[in-house]
Amino acid sequence: MPGCKATSEFQCDYRARPGKTCDRHLCAVHAHQVGTDVHFCPSHMKESSGDGKRAQRELFED
Ligand SMILES: [Zn+2]
Ligand SMILES: [Zn+2]
Repeated sequence: MPGCKATSEFQCDYRARPGKTCDRHLCAVHAHQVGTDVHFCPSHMKESSGDGKRAQRELFED
């Protein structure tokens, strides 16, 4: 994560595009475990939990 100085131990496994994962480097603090050896970055954690739709609409209105 930008501004985070902790060691990156994980990568975001969220599928941003078909066959392509986000791959953002995450430390243990910023990685959200969603399954066995599956981790999401904070923004994709939000998206997958349903808040993403709201966020996208806000972006659209800008
Ligand atoms: Zn971090
Ligand atoms: Zn991600």
